[in-house]
Amino acid sequence: MGKVFCIDVAKCSGCYNCQFACKEEHCTNEWLPFAAKQPMTGQFWLGIEEHVEGSKPKVKIHYIPVLCNHCEDPACMKVAKDGAVYKREDGLVIIDPEKAKGQKEIAQACPYGAVYWNEELSLPQKCTGCAHLLAEGKVPRCVDVCHTGAIRFGEESEFADFIEGAIVRMPELGTGPKVYYRNIPGRFIAGTIYDPEEEVVIRNARCHLTKGDKTWDTETDLFGDFWFRDLPRGKYELTIEADGFEGLHFPEIDTEKNSINLGDQPMNRRGS
Ligand code: SF4
Ligand code: SF4
Ligand code: SF4
Repeated sequence: MGKVFCIDVAKCSGCYNCQFACKEEHCTNEWLPFAAKQPMTGQFWLGIEEHVEGSKPKVKIHYIPVLCNHCEDPACMKVAKDGAVYKREDGLVIIDPEKAKGQKEIAQACPYGAVYWNEELSLPQKCTGCAHLLAEGKVPRCVDVCHTGAIRFGEESEFADFIEGAIVRMPELGTGPKVYYRNIPGRFIAGTIYDPEEEVVIRNARCHLTKGDKTWDTETDLFGDFWFRDLPRGKYELTIEADGFEGLHFPEIDTEKNSINLGDQPMNRRGS
């Protein structure tokens, strides 16, 4: 057991406070023996990923804070020479700013792109877990400034409930990330159904979505809109029916790259 970051994406408003605070903390100070100064530009030890799903007017945006995962089995540590990267007892992975000089391979080894190369100092650099603040009994700056409580830090045992059901980035790499995420939205499929003859939206149209042996059902709302949310990526088949109208059929909707807004779909009256 050791320290972990727990990030609830549903609580992240995308205010960027954490990203700015990390820069402020580390660009104007060197915190030896944990870190040399971070350059003013080019490095984001904590970066906010902005994910835009769908297309106008059905667009959803969510934000994912990403930082060094302080991995259980860090790829960066494996290539470091002379103990230039080490794992502390509390689990934080630290790049020694003296020993790591000239070791560009440390930056190249991280599969998450969490390590930056400082050309001027000839030094690989990344999140230190704000080890200098922890030494004073404080919390990391990014955690301190997060007004929604989206990003938290502490003992793994304290966050057992959060971690159960949480996900980590690229688990297939087997590095054992210690930054846990919850509530990352899945894809959506949405659209609007209308009657082109009367030029009105169609309410309560029955929408039936399938993917393999899985099915989802919903109805269009007051505005003729339907939404299937939080879907796994992949290909779907959709049928839409409404009394007195010809049915609609979408044999293949692919959400691999993005959520899909099918836009305004006309449904013709039977016999017209
Ligand atoms: S400070 Fe909190 S709410 Fe703002 S971007 Fe960072 S994690 Fe999200
Ligand atoms: S995320 Fe990258 S830099 Fe951080 S501990 Fe893991 S391998 Fe090392
Ligand atoms: S723990 Fe400190 S160094 Fe790491 S991302 Fe947060 S503010 Fe930056």
